[in-house]
Amino acid sequence: MISMKMIVPNTFDYLENAIKYRQNCPVCKDKMHLSNCYEDIVSNTISLTDFEFDIVISKNNNKIVSFTERRDIQFMYDISGNIVDSIPSRNYGIKSVNGSLYKAISIECKKCDQYYYVIQMIIDINNICIKELKLNSETLSIDKLGKNTYEIKNNYITEKTQFQSFVLGNDKFMELPLIPLDLDNPSKTITKIQSLISFL
Ligand SMILES: [Zn+2]
Repeated sequence: MISMKMIVPNTFDYLENAIKYRQNCPVCKDKMHLSNCYEDIVSNTISLTDFEFDIVISKNNNKIVSFTERRDIQFMYDISGNIVDSIPSRNYGIKSVNGSLYKAISIECKKCDQYYYVIQMIIDINNICIKELKLNSETLSIDKLGKNTYEIKNNYITEKTQFQSFVLGNDKFMELPLIPLDLDNPSKTITKIQSLISFL
Protein backbone atom coordinates (compact mmCIF):
# COMPACT_ATOMS: atom_id res chain seq x y z
CA MET A 1 0.00 0.00 0.00
CA ILE A 2 1.43 3.31 -1.06
CA SER A 3 1.16 6.14 1.41
CA MET A 4 -1.31 8.79 0.26
CA LYS A 5 0.07 11.37 2.64
CA MET A 6 1.13 14.38 0.62
CA ILE A 7 3.08 17.37 1.80
CA VAL A 8 1.72 19.48 -1.04
CA PRO A 9 -1.18 21.82 -0.40
CA ASN A 10 -4.47 20.91 -2.05
CA THR A 11 -5.87 24.41 -2.08
CA PHE A 12 -4.63 27.98 -1.85
CA ASP A 13 -6.34 30.92 -0.15
CA TYR A 14 -5.25 33.50 -2.69
CA LEU A 15 -3.98 33.54 -6.25
CA GLU A 16 -0.77 35.14 -4.98
CA ASN A 17 -0.02 32.03 -2.90
CA ALA A 18 -0.82 29.72 -5.80
CA ILE A 19 1.53 31.60 -8.11
CA LYS A 20 4.26 31.47 -5.48
CA TYR A 21 3.80 27.78 -4.63
CA ARG A 22 7.11 27.04 -6.40
CA GLN A 23 9.12 30.13 -7.10
CA ASN A 24 12.14 28.26 -8.45
CA CYS A 25 12.42 25.24 -10.71
CA PRO A 26 13.46 22.14 -8.71
CA VAL A 27 15.65 20.97 -11.61
CA CYS A 28 17.61 24.05 -12.76
CA LYS A 29 16.70 26.49 -9.91
CA ASP A 30 15.69 29.18 -12.39
CA LYS A 31 12.68 31.38 -11.62
CA MET A 32 9.30 29.84 -12.43
CA HIS A 33 7.31 31.69 -15.03
CA LEU A 34 3.68 32.63 -15.40
CA SER A 35 3.04 34.36 -18.68
CA ASN A 36 1.39 37.76 -18.68
CA CYS A 37 0.82 38.17 -14.98
CA TYR A 38 1.15 41.60 -13.40
CA GLU A 39 1.05 42.57 -9.77
CA ASP A 40 -0.21 46.05 -9.04
CA ILE A 41 1.12 46.98 -5.62
CA VAL A 42 -0.80 50.28 -5.50
CA SER A 43 -4.26 48.87 -6.16
CA ASN A 44 -3.44 45.50 -4.58
CA THR A 45 -4.48 43.46 -7.60
CA ILE A 46 -3.12 40.72 -9.81
CA SER A 47 -3.85 40.85 -13.53
CA LEU A 48 -3.74 37.75 -15.69
CA THR A 49 -3.87 38.01 -19.45
CA ASP A 50 -3.82 35.25 -22.00
CA PHE A 51 -5.54 34.34 -25.21
CA GLU A 52 -8.67 33.31 -23.31
CA PHE A 53 -9.32 36.22 -21.00
CA ASP A 54 -8.20 39.31 -19.13
CA ILE A 55 -8.88 39.12 -15.43
CA VAL A 56 -8.02 41.46 -12.58
CA ILE A 57 -8.27 39.96 -9.10
CA SER A 58 -8.09 41.74 -5.77
CA LYS A 59 -5.25 40.25 -3.71
CA ASN A 60 -6.95 40.62 -0.33
CA ASN A 61 -10.34 39.08 -0.86
CA ASN A 62 -10.36 37.15 -4.17
CA LYS A 63 -12.94 39.56 -5.61
CA ILE A 64 -12.79 39.93 -9.37
CA VAL A 65 -12.32 43.55 -10.30
CA SER A 66 -12.74 42.95 -14.01
CA PHE A 67 -13.17 40.00 -16.33
CA THR A 68 -13.09 40.04 -20.10
CA GLU A 69 -13.45 36.82 -22.00
CA ARG A 70 -11.70 36.74 -25.33
CA ARG A 71 -12.92 34.86 -28.31
CA ASP A 72 -11.06 33.72 -31.33
CA ILE A 73 -12.08 36.00 -34.17
CA GLN A 74 -12.01 34.76 -37.73
CA PHE A 75 -11.87 37.36 -40.47
CA MET A 76 -13.33 36.88 -43.91
CA TYR A 77 -11.71 38.63 -46.84
CA ASP A 78 -12.81 39.52 -50.34
CA ILE A 79 -10.53 38.76 -53.29
CA SER A 80 -8.76 42.10 -52.86
CA GLY A 81 -7.83 41.18 -49.33
CA ASN A 82 -10.24 43.55 -47.60
CA ILE A 83 -11.99 42.36 -44.48
CA VAL A 84 -15.68 41.90 -45.26
CA ASP A 85 -16.79 40.19 -42.09
CA SER A 86 -15.58 38.87 -38.76
CA ILE A 87 -17.09 36.01 -36.86
CA PRO A 88 -16.30 34.90 -33.34
CA SER A 89 -14.98 31.39 -33.65
CA ARG A 90 -15.04 28.79 -30.92
CA ASN A 91 -14.50 29.81 -27.35
CA TYR A 92 -11.14 28.47 -26.22
CA GLY A 93 -12.30 26.22 -23.46
CA ILE A 94 -13.39 28.18 -20.43
CA LYS A 95 -15.99 25.81 -19.08
CA SER A 96 -19.04 27.13 -17.27
CA VAL A 97 -20.74 24.62 -14.98
CA ASN A 98 -23.55 25.60 -12.58
CA GLY A 99 -22.44 29.20 -12.26
CA SER A 100 -18.73 28.37 -12.04
CA LEU A 101 -16.00 28.94 -14.57
CA TYR A 102 -13.01 26.58 -14.61
CA LYS A 103 -9.70 27.91 -15.74
CA ALA A 104 -6.30 26.23 -15.70
CA ILE A 105 -3.21 28.34 -15.02
CA SER A 106 0.15 26.84 -15.94
CA ILE A 107 3.32 27.95 -14.18
CA GLU A 108 6.45 26.67 -15.82
CA CYS A 109 10.22 26.77 -16.05
CA LYS A 110 11.15 28.40 -19.35
CA LYS A 111 14.83 27.61 -18.95
CA CYS A 112 15.08 23.82 -18.73
CA ASP A 113 11.44 23.02 -19.57
CA GLN A 114 11.55 20.10 -17.12
CA TYR A 115 9.04 21.22 -14.50
CA TYR A 116 5.63 22.89 -14.46
CA TYR A 117 2.55 22.95 -12.30
CA VAL A 118 -1.06 23.71 -13.05
CA ILE A 119 -3.52 25.57 -10.83
CA GLN A 120 -7.22 25.03 -11.28
CA MET A 121 -9.02 28.31 -10.69
CA ILE A 122 -12.77 28.12 -10.13
CA ILE A 123 -14.59 31.41 -10.58
CA ASP A 124 -18.00 31.99 -9.03
CA ILE A 125 -19.83 33.90 -11.76
CA ASN A 126 -22.76 34.94 -9.56
CA ASN A 127 -20.66 36.45 -6.79
CA ILE A 128 -17.84 37.55 -9.12
CA CYS A 129 -15.04 36.09 -7.06
CA ILE A 130 -12.62 33.21 -6.97
CA LYS A 131 -14.39 30.27 -5.38
CA GLU A 132 -11.46 27.89 -5.24
CA LEU A 133 -7.79 27.59 -6.15
CA LYS A 134 -6.48 24.05 -6.32
CA LEU A 135 -3.18 22.51 -7.19
CA ASN A 136 -4.27 20.46 -10.19
CA SER A 137 -1.01 18.79 -11.19
CA GLU A 138 2.78 18.86 -11.15
CA THR A 139 4.86 17.51 -14.00
CA LEU A 140 8.54 16.70 -13.81
CA SER A 141 10.78 15.45 -16.62
CA ILE A 142 14.12 13.85 -15.95
CA ASP A 143 17.01 13.05 -18.19
CA LYS A 144 19.17 10.35 -16.71
CA LEU A 145 22.67 10.00 -18.06
CA GLY A 146 21.56 11.99 -21.07
CA LYS A 147 19.73 9.10 -22.69
CA ASN A 148 16.70 7.92 -20.77
CA THR A 149 13.94 10.45 -20.30
CA TYR A 150 11.22 10.05 -17.72
CA GLU A 151 8.13 12.10 -17.09
CA ILE A 152 6.15 12.02 -13.87
CA LYS A 153 2.83 13.81 -13.73
CA ASN A 154 1.05 13.95 -10.40
CA ASN A 155 -2.62 14.72 -10.83
CA TYR A 156 -3.90 15.80 -7.41
CA ILE A 157 -7.53 15.97 -8.59
CA THR A 158 -7.69 12.34 -9.76
CA GLU A 159 -5.06 11.26 -7.18
CA LYS A 160 -3.00 9.44 -9.80
CA THR A 161 0.63 9.49 -10.81
CA GLN A 162 1.26 9.09 -14.51
CA PHE A 163 4.69 7.74 -15.27
CA GLN A 164 6.18 7.72 -18.74
CA SER A 165 9.58 6.46 -19.73
CA PHE A 166 11.06 7.07 -23.13
CA VAL A 167 13.85 4.58 -23.32
CA LEU A 168 15.01 3.69 -26.81
CA GLY A 169 12.72 1.07 -28.30
CA ASN A 170 10.86 0.54 -25.03
CA ASP A 171 8.52 3.44 -24.24
CA LYS A 172 6.25 2.88 -21.25
CA PHE A 173 3.20 4.60 -19.84
CA MET A 174 1.73 3.67 -16.47
CA GLU A 175 -0.86 5.13 -14.15
CA LEU A 176 -0.24 4.54 -10.46
CA PRO A 177 -1.75 5.67 -7.17
CA LEU A 178 -0.43 9.09 -6.18
CA ILE A 179 3.27 9.00 -5.30
CA PRO A 180 4.81 12.06 -3.63
CA LEU A 181 7.30 13.94 -5.78
CA ASP A 182 10.64 14.39 -4.09
CA LEU A 183 11.48 17.74 -5.66
CA ASP A 184 14.70 18.11 -3.68
CA ASN A 185 15.94 14.95 -5.29
CA PRO A 186 13.86 14.22 -8.42
CA SER A 187 15.82 11.07 -9.35
CA LYS A 188 14.75 9.48 -6.05
CA THR A 189 11.11 9.57 -7.18
CA ILE A 190 12.07 7.78 -10.41
CA THR A 191 13.90 5.08 -8.44
CA LYS A 192 10.90 4.68 -6.14
CA ILE A 193 8.47 4.32 -9.06
CA GLN A 194 10.75 1.86 -10.83
CA SER A 195 10.98 -0.33 -7.77
CA LEU A 196 7.20 -0.22 -7.39
CA ILE A 197 6.68 -1.16 -11.03
CA SER A 198 9.00 -4.13 -10.69
CA PHE A 199 6.49 -5.60 -8.20
CA LEU A 200 3.52 -5.16 -10.55
ZN1 LIG B 1 14.16 24.51 -14.86
